[in-house]
Amino acid sequence: MDTSLIPKGQPQPSLDEATRPLRLSVVVPVYNEVESLPRLVEAIATAVQPTDFDYEIICVDDGSRDGTTALLRELALSRSDLRGVLLRRNYGQTAAMAAGFNHARGDVIVTLDGDLQNDPSDIPMLVEKLEEGYDLVSGWRKNRQDAALTRLLPSKLANGLIGWVTGVKLHDYGCSLKAYRSELVMDMNLYGELHRFLPALAFIEGARITEVPVKHHARQFGQSKYGLGRTFRVLMDLFTIAFMKKFLTRPMHVFGGFGLASLALGILLGSYLTFLKLVLGQSIGDRPLLILAVVLFLTGVQLFSLGLLAEVAMRTYHESQGRPIYRVREVVEQDR
Ligand code: UDP
Ligand code: MG
Repeated sequence: MDTSLIPKGQPQPSLDEATRPLRLSVVVPVYNEVESLPRLVEAIATAVQPTDFDYEIICVDDGSRDGTTALLRELALSRSDLRGVLLRRNYGQTAAMAAGFNHARGDVIVTLDGDLQNDPSDIPMLVEKLEEGYDLVSGWRKNRQDAALTRLLPSKLANGLIGWVTGVKLHDYGCSLKAYRSELVMDMNLYGELHRFLPALAFIEGARITEVPVKHHARQFGQSKYGLGRTFRVLMDLFTIAFMKKFLTRPMHVFGGFGLASLALGILLGSYLTFLKLVLGQSIGDRPLLILAVVLFLTGVQLFSLGLLAEVAMRTYHESQGRPIYRVREVVEQDR
């Protein structure tokens, strides 16, 4: 095959593309999971080895302080299917996942938690589902083993809200057990605690998404790294996502719209008051309407300028990273 037309940096198709085993990267962020880690690595290997996937396990140590780091180093040196990525300090689960993504070499990436709450035996099933023609398969902890009041209830509310805002209806956004096509992951940039919004971000990137029920176990070792404060952070992130989904490439449409409406109303009220003052000779200095007119006018100007600034920021965002404003699924043409 003549590959000279394929731009540099794009994957070069190899002759045995169809027969080559699927390459799978299993990405696991771990933070203070010293007891779970060896069991987890073993369980993943046991789950994946019977398949004919060519696999690697990538454990990202997120600045642990309980000996996880040393253990991971030792394990990674002793087995060929494990790579340890050791972060300098604790950056949080989202960053740890992003580090894992950046080190993954597979065509398919599966993520799961390092605390054995997700069951590695579900991995082959997720990948098979993905192979049916999806870009992202999300796990759904149908029978979730966490505290009802502090975990399940907030999570149920959050899932409903996220589904409503983003338009991607999944039962369980918080489930870490997910499978992705790797090129999808490479298109997404993660910030804050956005990992739970990966399906929403993927949807923005035009991905085909589905979910499948997966097993879930109670935490055996160590403890959860999160408390109720997470609910608030998730809510804040949701605003970001909602904005990105609708207006990322055209912020002026939202700011400009509100700004213009506010400005118009302010000018209208102002004209009315000017008419009263100049034509009818009434005093308007003590009228609340005057304050309203001024506030509306100034708000309008502010929103309008904010929209323009956002337009500039958005262009910088896309152009500085070479991010196109569209995503091509495939190009279809006759073999030349
Ligand atoms: N984790 C991490 N960095 C952090 C917090 C958590 O890498 O700062 C990892 C943690 O080791 C686990 C996963 O993220 O593998 C999920 O954390 P956890 O089990 O505490 O969350 P929960 O299941 O309680 O929602
Ligand atoms: Mg957990």
